[in-house]
Amino acid sequence: MLKNVITFSTEPLKNCYTDIAGHSYCTRDFVNIAEGNKRLARLIFDACEGKSLEDTVEDLISIKRLGRCETCGKIYLAKKCRTCPFCKKKRMLQSSYLSGVAAEAAGLIQGLKDDHVI
Ligand SMILES: [Zn+2]
Repeated sequence: MLKNVITFSTEPLKNCYTDIAGHSYCTRDFVNIAEGNKRLARLIFDACEGKSLEDTVEDLISIKRLGRCETCGKIYLAKKCRTCPFCKKKRMLQSSYLSGVAAEAAGLIQGLKDDHVI
């Protein structure tokens, strides 16, 4: 694994990161995956610890540092973004969590009905 923050900052076309599988990336690859957002590119670069660029992005999405628009598929900083900065579509905040809660509540109500409580 190779990671060079100086190359990242100063030479966008030179290899600044090589993952453990041997894939090399230059700053432009980070900027491209970050939809041109250099701050976002830097955040992804900082998070790279040997995984591929794509896997690192997936990890950042799973810990909610990044959001991915469910409509246009683009990624952006999750913090404070309530709408997608690209297509302005409202984010589905933690939709999987909420549907889990809804399913649990429905199950609970059914249980109460079965017990003739309601
Ligand atoms: Zn979008």
